[in-house]
Amino acid sequence: MITVTPPAIEHILRKAVDGERLTPAEGVELLRSHDLTAIGAAADAVTRRLHPGPFRTYNIDRNINYSNVCAAVCDFCAFYRPVDHAEAYVLTREVLAQKMQETLDLGGDQILLQGGLHPKLPLEWYEDLLRWMKAEFPKINVHGFSPPEIYHFHKLSKLPLKTVLERLKGAGLGSLPGGGGEILVDRVRKLVTRGKVLTDGWLEVNQAWHELGGRSSCTMMFGHVETLEERIEHLDRLRQQQDQSGGFTAFICWTHQAPGHAPWFGRDAEEGRKGGVDMSKLPEAGAFEYLKTQAVARLYLDNIPNIQSSWVTQGEKVGQMALLFGANDMGSLMIEENVVAQAGTVFHLSLETIRRCISDAGYVPRQRNVFYEFVDHEPAVATATGSRPRPLPGLPVLSGGSCGTGSGSGGGCSTN
Ligand code: SF4
Repeated sequence: MITVTPPAIEHILRKAVDGERLTPAEGVELLRSHDLTAIGAAADAVTRRLHPGPFRTYNIDRNINYSNVCAAVCDFCAFYRPVDHAEAYVLTREVLAQKMQETLDLGGDQILLQGGLHPKLPLEWYEDLLRWMKAEFPKINVHGFSPPEIYHFHKLSKLPLKTVLERLKGAGLGSLPGGGGEILVDRVRKLVTRGKVLTDGWLEVNQAWHELGGRSSCTMMFGHVETLEERIEHLDRLRQQQDQSGGFTAFICWTHQAPGHAPWFGRDAEEGRKGGVDMSKLPEAGAFEYLKTQAVARLYLDNIPNIQSSWVTQGEKVGQMALLFGANDMGSLMIEENVVAQAGTVFHLSLETIRRCISDAGYVPRQRNVFYEFVDHEPAVATATGSRPRPLPGLPVLSGGSCGTGSGSGGGCSTN
């Protein structure tokens, strides 16, 4: 047998497969390596240890951007508009009701509700919105307001974070999305965003939400101005946060999608941006970097139970391959996706395609909710278990096969 994986890399992979925690230096070493297949096989072994059942999951939700008005400026964002811009909007209740009804009609059970950082809407406006949504559509979970939005509400209302979150929860907020994480290193955040929460604040929102018993996801947008060390620092901050508060259900990462031109609006567009980064000029990371980074994240984030593929940014083929590089979930059908679409790179998959991506990879597709509980009828699994992928020869192989993490079995039904 020809062994091509350098011993140092093999040693790190073995550690992770055996359930030992990786150090930041080891994480960086993996990111520097080009041994994609070995890293992927190790991530797959860890995924199968965490999710030994024959299922891989997806959910059906709709992304509703209630407003595109934003007081911040992010150099990668083509979605925001200044408050006085001709294209600025806040959705009416009629439009919202129609979108929510369509979601239910398509078998969805959740709304991903996000907007910009509106400089004028008070906290009461969001509370009224949530109360109305829950009164009209009680079965729908509102997965809403990313940490930058929550932090913005806290600044605008001058109320403690916990009070803001308590009030939103009381009004019907079900769970928090992990948007706006980008890279949780202030050097990077200050380079590519202005007027947006920094690292500690992003994590404080999650801490406060988890203390209230809430669950959230966490994300990483990479492949722009960050170094590999900063990519690992991001993962490390998430891992530390999870050790402390334990409320992250899932991690999702994607590569920076370069906009076609610098997406600056208002005065920035008229006068030319001073400072910031023209991210339209940055080369995009490819499939190799995406799959490797996701696999390293699976190995590094030993306390986060689920990893979602990002087919929305990577497309069907790479999104499907992600299931063999650490992901146990295909994410959402995403009935509507405005933010990535505005940046110019967005893929649309039908429910049938998502399910086929999972079954072609040797697993049984199952629909889940945001808490990773199955919401469909349990299918017969006899046929699928026979077709599950086998470990590749010569690459790290899982020993024992037991679930030692307490993260539940059968495709990630636990929210920890
Ligand atoms: S990414 Fe979010 S915070 Fe940044 S400009 Fe866009 S809408 Fe505003």
